Amino acid sequence: MSPLSRSSSARRTRPPAVDPACAAAVDIARAAAEETARPGKVGDHLGLRAEADRVVTHAFACLDPAYQGWHWAVTVARASRSKVVTVDECVLLPGDGALLAPEWVPWLERLRPGDLGPGDLLPTAPDDVRLAPGFAAVDDELDRQEQYELGLGRVRVLSREGRDEAAARWYEGPAGPHASIATAAPAQCSTCGFYTLMAGELRQMFGVCANEYAPDDGRVVSADHGCGAHSEAVSVPLASEHGPPVIDELGYEIVAPGDTGD
Ligand code: SF4
Repeated sequence: MSPLSRSSSARRTRPPAVDPACAAAVDIARAAAEETARPGKVGDHLGLRAEADRVVTHAFACLDPAYQGWHWAVTVARASRSKVVTVDECVLLPGDGALLAPEWVPWLERLRPGDLGPGDLLPTAPDDVRLAPGFAAVDDELDRQEQYELGLGRVRVLSREGRDEAAARWYEGPAGPHASIATAAPAQCSTCGFYTLMAGELRQMFGVCANEYAPDDGRVVSADHGCGAHSEAVSVPLASEHGPPVIDELGYEIVAPGDTGD
């Protein structure tokens, strides 16, 4: 199929007539393509297509090995009652099977957890469903910490969707009950002295580990997570009241045969 053949939807409308002068201007179109391309990169004339009255696009094969499957499209036109054909535009277009760049993905969709580095800024979209509007009015009589936990004074706070997403992510992640360290733990975080409850509704299920020797120190852990550094993991035995036995290997005592020492 010619690279300039029409789509089925375009065929339904009456195509413009091919202007003979523009159709004959193959050399003008080729010269334009060769001027734009590198020398020797314009191949055979592949066909033409009427774009409108007195406007025709000529197609030429592209011989550049970096653009296999592409073709040069040179549009020529002439004014009404004029015999002079001029070049409108000259572009390189992909055909069927042309090698194309992957579809563009906005950076926000490409971003992955852990991509943010020191000094990077990550703006949150105004319609981010993870956030909900906070209360603008702040009552001076309220305790400041209480205000903060309620979201007062903050433009946006965590929405129900945002909270549920975070809870599911944390619970299924390495700080949840299915982590290998948790399945081998002697007891759950909920019974550990280092388990510090979170504020808000998340406190029902999550806390922060405050044990510097635990792998999750400073991180959110689920109540049924756990590790070997649990505060009650090991019962340390009390120090013995008796010292260890001392054996005198240098001195000796003479004992008569048959003397049992009784
Ligand atoms: S020390 Fe271990 S058991 Fe205790 S809160 Fe931290 S992770 Fe949980």
